[in-house]
Parts: sequence; C-alpha cells; structure tokens
Amino acid sequence: MDSLLVIPVFIPHSGCPHQCAFCNQAIITSQKRCLPSSQEIDKIIGQYLGYRGHRSRVELAFFGGTFLGLPDLEIVRLLEKIAPYIENHSIHGIRCSTRPDTITKQKLDLIAPYGVTLVELGVQSMSDAVLRKANRGHTCFDTCQAIGLLKEYKLKVGVQVMVGLPGDTEEQLLESTRQVADLAPDVARIYPLMVLEGSLLARWYQDGSYTPLGLDQSVGLVKEMVKIFEHAHVKVIRMGLQASEMMEDKTQVLAGPWHPAFGHLVLSALVYDQVCEKLETFLLSDQGTLGHPICLSVHPRFESRLRGNKNSNLERLARAYPGIVFSIQTNDGLLSGKVDIKNAHPLV
Ligand code: SF4
Repeated sequence: MDSLLVIPVFIPHSGCPHQCAFCNQAIITSQKRCLPSSQEIDKIIGQYLGYRGHRSRVELAFFGGTFLGLPDLEIVRLLEKIAPYIENHSIHGIRCSTRPDTITKQKLDLIAPYGVTLVELGVQSMSDAVLRKANRGHTCFDTCQAIGLLKEYKLKVGVQVMVGLPGDTEEQLLESTRQVADLAPDVARIYPLMVLEGSLLARWYQDGSYTPLGLDQSVGLVKEMVKIFEHAHVKVIRMGLQASEMMEDKTQVLAGPWHPAFGHLVLSALVYDQVCEKLETFLLSDQGTLGHPICLSVHPRFESRLRGNKNSNLERLARAYPGIVFSIQTNDGLLSGKVDIKNAHPLV
C-alpha cells in the first residue's frame, strides 16, 4: 500500500524568467491558466483528500513552474493558503519544484515557517553547454550550490533530469547522471525529451536541426541512469511524463519517445538485464545445462515486469538463448524485484 498521497497544484510557467527551449507547461500539465485561485486550490485539495483512503501521509506539491521564482508576496500567499490544512493535520507537508538558480538563503528563510519538506530542482543536465543550448539560463554550478544550501536547511532534495537534450551525447548524459547522483539528492525524476508544440525545440525539429531519441534508445539510456541512481541510493520516483489526453494529441506532442507506460518499459528492461546476468552464471554452474527448460520465479507483483510489455522480455530471451524453453512461476516468498532461476524439471 502506498502510504503517501501527493496533491499536485500546477502553476504552469509561473515564476519562470523565460521559456526554456523544450518547455510548454500548458501541454505537460493540461492546464492553461497560470496561478490557481484560492477557491481552485480548495477544490483540488478537497478532491484529492477524497481519494486519500488509508494513506498515512498527505503532501501538497506546487509543480509546473518555478515556485521560488515567484514574487515573495505570491509565495507567501500560496503557502498561507495551505497553512490551515497543515494546522488541522489534513496535509502534512509541502513540496515545490523550482529552478536551481532560485535557491537562495533569503528564499529558504521565507518558506521556512510553512512546512515545506522537499524541493525539486529542474537540473536537466550537468553539462553547461547542454544547459546553454536548452536556454536554461543556469549552470551546473548553480545546481551544486542549490543542493548544498537545501541540505544546509535540512530540506529533502529532488532532482529532475532530461534525456535527449539537444547537443547531449550518451556518454555525457551518463556522466551528468553520475555527477547529479554524487550530490546525493533524495529522489530523482527522469524525463525523456518530447517535442512540444509552441516550444523552440518544435521549430528545431521542424527545420531538421533536432532529432528526438527513439523509444528503445531512450528506454536503454534511462535504464542505465536508474542503475547509477540506485547505486548511489537515490530513489527514482518517476520515469516519463504523466499520461494525459494532451500527451496523446499529435498536434500538441509532435515527436519524441512517448509511451504511456514508459516507466514500466524501463523497469522491464532492468529485469531483463538481471535475468541475463543470472542466466550466464546459472548456465556456467553445475546446475545449468544448455537446452534444458528453465523456470524463472518472481514475486507475483513483479510478473508483468518479468514478462515485459506484451511479453517482449520472453521474446528477447527466446532470441538470445535459442533452444532454451523458459517458463514463469510466481512465488510470494521472493524478495521484491528479485528473479530466481532454476531448471524447470529436476535433472535426472
Ligand atoms: S522548464 Fe521549468 S523553468 Fe523552464 S520554462 Fe518550463 S517550467 Fe519554466
């Protein structure tokens, strides 16, 4: 059971100093208006609290803009709006997303009394050249400074990084991910770059100067990024943009590695790698006999990841290990995410 409910309150583009080359928040958040009114915030909170169920913790998140780039009066108005919900314990904390270059002592002192628990930074890349090309207007140094300051103020840190930015390379992306992971954020979100109507990137795509990554390439890269983050004990809480009607609209999302279950594709690819690694060891061991049927066991909750999207993992295994027949068994006793390998029938 998920014990956390996050109530998203979108503030599309509010507080942003300009529009980054790839951004169009109206499409990402399916919301055109900028700042929600007090009544709209009450309505959103009421709706989400209705879905709370047994979740033990509720946090409200200001997403989709640059929260700490808003004028101080606006920041305080929004936080004051949530204060009564914090006082009566129906909301336990506040999150916000913001740019690294908005993190200053003055802003952190301003929000300190209001129960902000986690600040998510739009890091996107640690390459200054890539950041410049994306018209981000901040540097890798700003990110390092921001994370240091947030930790000084004992705030949890989230990072958002992008895959497929113009001018980026696979090596640079993975190096960038290692640099971000070394800064020890608490959580990370990974977003493959989509070409959104109305963005500068859309113009580059239309004039042929930008080519988006393919879906498979994107899944492969995000899989490697997840491995880097997991190795550094950084929890990856999202991969790919949230599915919505707007994201399915080809006049709004012009190109890019879109898939409504992108995260599932990555998790399945990670399981596939795990199976291949274990198989190599198994086949070299006394138990393994090439050609003998093999049974893969997994916790029931992870069966769909093991199978992959439309059984794609099983098809890949059949191609990679011709002559071996694979079967799948579920086992409640197995640890989450771990795959066990054994001969399908005891050898005689
Ligand atoms: S990417 Fe972030 S900072 Fe840039 S325009 Fe969009 S919301 Fe604003």
